[in-house]
Amino acid sequence: MSTLILHHDDCLAHSPGSHHPESPQRYQAVLSGVSDIKGTQLLPAPLAGLNQVLLVHQQDYWQQLLDAEPIEGRVAVDPDTFLSQGSINAALRASGAACFAVDQVFAGKARNAFCATRPPGHHAEEALAMGFCLINHVAIAARHALATHPVNKVAILDFDVHHGNGTQAIFEQSPELLFVSSHQVPLYPGTGAADETGFGNILNLPLAANTGSREFRKAWTNEGLPALEAFEPDLMIISAGFDAHQKDPLAQLELQDEDFSWVTNAICELADQACDGRVISVLEGGYNLDALASASRAHVEALASRRV
Ligand SMILES: [Zn+2]
Repeated sequence: MSTLILHHDDCLAHSPGSHHPESPQRYQAVLSGVSDIKGTQLLPAPLAGLNQVLLVHQQDYWQQLLDAEPIEGRVAVDPDTFLSQGSINAALRASGAACFAVDQVFAGKARNAFCATRPPGHHAEEALAMGFCLINHVAIAARHALATHPVNKVAILDFDVHHGNGTQAIFEQSPELLFVSSHQVPLYPGTGAADETGFGNILNLPLAANTGSREFRKAWTNEGLPALEAFEPDLMIISAGFDAHQKDPLAQLELQDEDFSWVTNAICELADQACDGRVISVLEGGYNLDALASASRAHVEALASRRV
């Protein structure tokens, strides 16, 4: 079985502005990095259905987004977050990719999967767009898995340099979900302290600016991975942001491509033990185009190196 890579050119249409770091070129950079990796299969991402969006988001909120999408130009829904024509479809491709990836992995048609889609999602709350995110793809995929597959427990692992506040807020009262996040603190969005533990199902691993490979790996080895192993989920979902890379302009962690390989392999090894290797990964941040291409390549190569 191969590693599925889901993509769609609708993800190019979302245009938050020519100076915005979350640019359409990110999508092209990721695809250039991952599209020729041995053991992968590229497929177009379907659109998420309304029923899937509403697994997480309030109907009024979704309608507000639909009503706000402009015919031309841009509309701000938050100081950092914009809608252009095509933004809604781009977001629906990203959530649709994540749900389809879940279905394909449970159908035994793929070993694991990576969603090369944008905009990102992990800052979006039930009824709040923020931090470049409109809807929360990993949360939708987790709820989709719980609703439609033989799944009792899902783990979401987030190594984006920013705290996944939206994912945490959505699941902090949901013991069927474990959320582990490593991120730089202090940094946007300001949440993610170690004492934010939800229902006992939230594990935040805050890292100081200038943290490099050693401390990052230590945090996951000593805390994140043992919590994941103990949880024994039926599915693992990765919020794969590559903005903790040393070259990233939006943050000050010092990770290298090899660190993304390392954490991906470590997660996949636990997935082999707990859930037949079922891992779905969804692109979040990453704003240096060269680092985004090379780090996403390292990540997908690690996914594709797994064997049944
Ligand atoms: Zn980020």
